[in-house]
Amino acid sequence: MVDLTNPIFHDPNKAREWLESERWPSGPVCPRCGTINEATKLKGKSTRPGVYKCRPCDKPFTVTVGTVFEDSKVPLHKWLLATFLVTSSKKGISSHQIHRTLGVSYKTAWFMTQRIRAAMTPDPSTASPIGGAGKVVESDETFIGGKAKNVHRGKPTPKKHPVQALVERGGQVRAQHIADVTAKTLRRTIAKHVAKGTTMNTDDALAYYHMSKEFAAHGVVNHSKDEYVSKDGTVHIQSAESFFAILKRQMYGTHHAVSEQHLHRYVSEAAFKWNHRSALGVEDTERAAAAIRGIGGKRLTYRPVDQASHS
Ligand SMILES: [Zn+2]
Repeated sequence: MVDLTNPIFHDPNKAREWLESERWPSGPVCPRCGTINEATKLKGKSTRPGVYKCRPCDKPFTVTVGTVFEDSKVPLHKWLLATFLVTSSKKGISSHQIHRTLGVSYKTAWFMTQRIRAAMTPDPSTASPIGGAGKVVESDETFIGGKAKNVHRGKPTPKKHPVQALVERGGQVRAQHIADVTAKTLRRTIAKHVAKGTTMNTDDALAYYHMSKEFAAHGVVNHSKDEYVSKDGTVHIQSAESFFAILKRQMYGTHHAVSEQHLHRYVSEAAFKWNHRSALGVEDTERAAAAIRGIGGKRLTYRPVDQASHS
């Protein structure tokens, strides 16, 4: 999966073989009973390619069963191409662009990009905490949506939606759309994602008051007094601010109007790219492969009806 001339982006059979080798390095895995490499490849004119039959449970399956690519009429090579385009675009790529580049309808392109974002969303049960002894984690929050210049005269200002980012300095981010910016909400997210021995850095918002009781230390920059870095240079939340700058460039530069219902997927995309960035040694090919590893076990809870008016 290196460049756009790779046959896996143009030939559905090559795409399927590549996906099988990525998902099943030890042979076909039955999605029903989990048995590895005990399936028979079905052949014959009436069988579509890529169908296996599990010998223990006697049920047929393909490499896309149980993934975000399942139940799609879009050929697999276009799925791989879309995944590569989404994961390698630093500022994100709009569904309109995917629609034009891949020759699929806009609705299909929108559905594809949402599914690819789902693949980039970490499984909450396996996402490890960030920080730890000797590490600094910055917490900050921002608001997405409701740009005044896009508002038509007489209409109410669109609501802004809070997003919290926890960034380990020089490391990974955990980011999410949150319901509100109360102390309860912000600190619950921190408790969930940040290891105990961490040094926390925040601004001087009351929500973070007395955080040193819960963590190794708590450095505070007094944003309310126009202080952005402590005098010795160690206390700041500039990593979190950098993450928000990237997120906002994607939201306002590429996607424009995103409803609250779908915001969490765009936040996941930005966090995935941050956690698989060049500075951490992850280049385009490996980033796309990481997204492919996330296509399994994701349940999408929206229906095609919800697709209108998104880019
Ligand atoms: Zn089976």
